[in-house]
Amino acid sequence: MITAETMLKAKILSHGVSFTPKALEVADRVGAKRQNLVYNQPLGSSKDRPQELLIMGVDRYETVVSCVAPVNDEHIIIDCDASDKLFAEDENVESDISISFVRAPKYYKLLLKNGAPITDYVSACGLDEMNIIPWRGCAISNPCLFCGTNVVTSEKNSIQTAFDLSEDNICFDEYLSLLREAVKIAKNDGCYVEHMHVIIISGNLRDEKLNLQCELYAKIAQTIYADIVDKASEGIIAVTMPPKNLDLLLKLKESGVSKVVFNLEVGNEPYFSRYCPGKSAIGYGHMMEALERSVKVFGKGNVWTNFVLGLEPIAPLLDVCERLAARGVSSSANVLHLDKGNRLDCPVPNFETITTFFRELAMLHKRFGFMPLYCSKALRTSLSNEAFDDRISL
Ligand code: SF4
Repeated sequence: MITAETMLKAKILSHGVSFTPKALEVADRVGAKRQNLVYNQPLGSSKDRPQELLIMGVDRYETVVSCVAPVNDEHIIIDCDASDKLFAEDENVESDISISFVRAPKYYKLLLKNGAPITDYVSACGLDEMNIIPWRGCAISNPCLFCGTNVVTSEKNSIQTAFDLSEDNICFDEYLSLLREAVKIAKNDGCYVEHMHVIIISGNLRDEKLNLQCELYAKIAQTIYADIVDKASEGIIAVTMPPKNLDLLLKLKESGVSKVVFNLEVGNEPYFSRYCPGKSAIGYGHMMEALERSVKVFGKGNVWTNFVLGLEPIAPLLDVCERLAARGVSSSANVLHLDKGNRLDCPVPNFETITTFFRELAMLHKRFGFMPLYCSKALRTSLSNEAFDDRISL
């Protein structure tokens, strides 16, 4: 059994989505959020493509899906009727669900006192994530094959970067002050009225600078903690590569970070080395050790890792998730989506693979007493919440 809104989300994740011209006119009229272009852009899409859809089931369960690139002829087409009501052109998708574009937060149009756009400092992913991305691009020795961040960010002009990846030119104090101004304004936006997931996330500095990266994340957390603590459902989440010196994990914790996320992306060889050559050079063993050490520092359930679903078979991946859970680490996955700049040789996983994986993962996590990460209206973990909420069951 799979509920209608989750069925549509799974179909979009497995086949992709496109829009009729009429639906795109609605996107214009309602102020749909466009591609953030902070680290990815769907393959073959324009920069003003809507970024996300909010889908609501008949029982008012809400979920958000990323408008991923169409991958085959069976992709979902979103159209609208005479009253601007969006619907999916698919006979298997029930018509009594509600579909709408996720709108751009009001702060997307605002400027800081110095004239810089707030979106140079914070942006929203899904409905209720507040993303803090202190620099653009990734300087890892060998980028992951699914990731197009360096292609996308190199094309975007007028971005304030706190840290120039090429010159190591830090003007961090100024950045922190502007970031704080941006956070204070953004947190009052309607998109965060229920709660917000505050996530510090970025590509990586050069491999030999990962200790510095950890220290910069700690400075950011320390700066914004008092401003976000009342609304942030998980406190501050740091999504990063671990420092080389794992003693720095304590510094991260003391700065106000409450959850760390070291994304393995791939659980098993030979896929890890093939798809994440740079992370492989830093070391799978090091990442595992960092995850385990973090459980001692941050506590069970406060240490997460994410996988890219579709880069390896799911049975051994679930085995890795189980081993991690036994050590106190919670895992999830984001379904592979094809972005500009990817160098992949594998297809997006099919509907059956996706729904099976998330159903099995939810059962596993219930056994170990873990909650899913984020919520169904954030974007980073595909169907984890829906499966946990029994929207996908046998
Ligand atoms: S580490 Fe890999 S996934 Fe992360 S930003 Fe760099 S290239 Fe992309």
